[in-house]
Amino acid sequence: MTGGVDDSTSYWQASAPGVHWQHALPAQSAVVVIGAGIVGSSAAYWAARAGLQPLLIDQRAPGAGATGRNGGFMTFGTAEGFSGTSRRIGVAATKTLFDLTLHSRALARRIVVDERIDCDFAARGRLSLSLNATEHEHHAADVAVLREAGYDVELLDAAGVAQLMHTPPGPRIVGAIFAPGDVTLHSLRLVNGIVAAAERHGALTATATVRSLAEHGGSVRLETSAGTIEAGAVIIAANAWSSQLVPALRGIITPVRGQMLSYAPLPPVFTTGIGAEFSETGEYWQQTSDGTIVLGGCRAAAPDRDVDTLALVPTAPVQTALERVLPTLFPQLDGLTIERRWAGPMAFTPDYLPVVDQVPGVARAWFAGGFCGHGMPFGVRVGQALVEAAQRGVLPTDVAPLHLGR
Ligand SMILES: Cc1cc2nc3c(=O)[nH]c(=O)nc-3n(C[C@H](O)[C@H](O)[C@H](O)COP(=O)(O)OP(=O)(O)OC[C@H]3O[C@@H](n4cnc5c(N)ncnc54)[C@H](O)[C@@H]3O)c2cc1C
Repeated sequence: MTGGVDDSTSYWQASAPGVHWQHALPAQSAVVVIGAGIVGSSAAYWAARAGLQPLLIDQRAPGAGATGRNGGFMTFGTAEGFSGTSRRIGVAATKTLFDLTLHSRALARRIVVDERIDCDFAARGRLSLSLNATEHEHHAADVAVLREAGYDVELLDAAGVAQLMHTPPGPRIVGAIFAPGDVTLHSLRLVNGIVAAAERHGALTATATVRSLAEHGGSVRLETSAGTIEAGAVIIAANAWSSQLVPALRGIITPVRGQMLSYAPLPPVFTTGIGAEFSETGEYWQQTSDGTIVLGGCRAAAPDRDVDTLALVPTAPVQTALERVLPTLFPQLDGLTIERRWAGPMAFTPDYLPVVDQVPGVARAWFAGGFCGHGMPFGVRVGQALVEAAQRGVLPTDVAPLHLGR
């Protein structure tokens, strides 16, 4: 690998102010939330807003998992897209999930405004580039299906793509789908802001690794690295680590390493978030408010596609592949300076949909995970839905298609 810090601290971690985090573990709590990513921080926020005084625990710090290491896209819909998901679960359930993500994004926007969170949350739109005529035909069909279902997307030709960037697209770019409402943001500042807001509304926070959970009388007993807690209810938002806490999820939620790099700040080049199938496993990038371009993907270059690992270190094959993306697609973007390289833990499921349900065998515990690299548009509502499930004992209807037995 040439250039760049590869200690696996993400651009987001290096550019976010720290957040207050209490580190004291009480012996009891009405609601314990495990994992302070987008899902767990949101669950703690909504539980605190409901007056439940939750305890939010993380083994490291807020955003230490996928949320503080990702691409900073809050798109809408599922990993496989509308057509792929509707083939699996039908059009009506797919629409329920797509609407859930739009609702979740609106909730995220409301928290950002209400709690004055400085996280560059902006509907800059997202381009999904077509890199050949066949792909453009598929994109045209996707746009037709999405518009028919009521979603705001349009098909652009190469000239339309060129208007949305300050560098000339190379000849491989023949068009794109444009989703104008898609959001880019600083994911870690968002999570830190939600954690701070949760604390203002009464949540406690603590560092501890939860090792196990089990029914104990009318409560749930958690064994942690910092002691035992008796919880009235438990919400597990551990995503890639889910099966360590709930062994029944082994083979259902599988950790997958995602890798990224960032380039030294540049004058404006890209005005939107961008995705492309440059490799079979997909690539994505955005230019942040300080001019840094963050770019990820290229798992196809890893011998095993980086499946089934929780290692948070970047590797040479994937990083070398990432380095080729921009110079190949945009001839003027050759020789950029790489500033940082990192890796993060995604979590995949066999049908590319997240799972939200009760923990098997522990009636007062609920979990969500397996977001397949698309957790940001789900996270805020899923966190809220987990709190509702813990309060009422049933899954809310909008997350019901995501239950374990589907
Ligand atoms: C490189 C990369 C790029 C991505 N890009 C995007 C993107 O642009 N848009 C998008 O929508 N999604 C993206 N994703 C996926 C997205 O980041 C995730 O889907 C989302 O952040 C998951 O949030 P979460 O809260 O479920 O999990 P996480 O953010 O992973 O949080 C889980 C937390 O649980 C904690 N934890 C785990 N086990 C324990 C334990 N036993 N005890 C205590 N704490 C524990 C961890 O420390 C961690 O902080 C990307 C992921 C990666 C890795």
